Amino acid sequence: MSDHPSRRDFLGAATGVAAGAALGLPRAALAAPAVHIRPPARPVAVASANGIRGVERAGQLVSQGMDTLDAAVEGVKIQELDPDDTSVGYGGLPNEMGVVQLDASCMHGPSKRAGAVGALEGIKTPSVVAKYVLLYTNHIMLVGEGAKRFALSYGFTEEDLLTERSRQAWLRWRANRGASDDWLDVPADADLVARPTGTINLNCVNPNGEISSVTTTSGLAWKIPGRVGDSPIIGAGQYCDNDVGAAGSTGRGESNIKVCGAFLTVDHMRRGMSPTDAALETLRRVVATTEPRLLDPEGRPTFDLNFYAVNARGEFGAAAIYGARAGGRGSQFAVFDGETAGLRDCAYLYERR
Ligand code: ASP
Repeated sequence: MSDHPSRRDFLGAATGVAAGAALGLPRAALAAPAVHIRPPARPVAVASANGIRGVERAGQLVSQGMDTLDAAVEGVKIQELDPDDTSVGYGGLPNEMGVVQLDASCMHGPSKRAGAVGALEGIKTPSVVAKYVLLYTNHIMLVGEGAKRFALSYGFTEEDLLTERSRQAWLRWRANRGASDDWLDVPADADLVARPTGTINLNCVNPNGEISSVTTTSGLAWKIPGRVGDSPIIGAGQYCDNDVGAAGSTGRGESNIKVCGAFLTVDHMRRGMSPTDAALETLRRVVATTEPRLLDPEGRPTFDLNFYAVNARGEFGAAAIYGARAGGRGSQFAVFDGETAGLRDCAYLYERR
């Protein structure tokens, strides 16, 4: 990502230092705390399991010298453009009106910049639009019609994002919605009455220890139009601090927003926790802040939520609220460890019953 300081940046920075001196702040108070971290020898990318192709692509691009944010966005774009992935971008499951509304956000560690879009319609790659907000505006988040107009002004093409597969899923959901509406019942064994979720969060670090993060989603299927989840919210869907690491989330966004989970996970790492321990600690906070209607009789959440994290040394980890059912497979996450991409098991708080 090109981020050369302009003349305006230069003058602004000089003014900031002068202002600090005028306030009588000691010189050390003006500087960020010194953190000495040995960067990883190899690039590392970590993502939700559906980002397996994305971590491989991002890892390869970073190995070739591409900027970490550009590489992370290239990674998640694979899924955004895939019509068979119903959780992000083109082909994502729609809201209750049958309209696909997309959310995305990103952060670039070296330049400390952020961008996001919410409830964006008609554009296949919201992660790229979020990157354009980061690159070209003084804002952090654009939503709805304004976000679409912004994208169109940069040459993005407006397209119908509802694939036939997602439309069929929406029609089946609508037909099963309730007994007191005007839709006829369908056979009881029809599927898709549940509320599928899906999102990609991808975080990557290069051999210089530069870090970026991105999260993109079509949000909760059948959501109320205009609903925005955690994914486009800086500090919830993803967060990146170049001195520490990056983290992001998938799962029930409303439960993440309340704890600013990505920020909290990075902050746990700042205080010395490993990425896995940081993600678990954030999930404990999520459980502690869950309202009673979303807890089972034993006080466990009735939803799942995952966090993925990497630190500036290239150590990584992930955690979920629930592990596998006996004999089954639990939540996994995708990693490019500098050589190969693969899936690994997430740590978790509770056994699934
Ligand atoms: N976190 C996303 C949201 O709440 C959904 C998901 O990850 O499944 O919009």
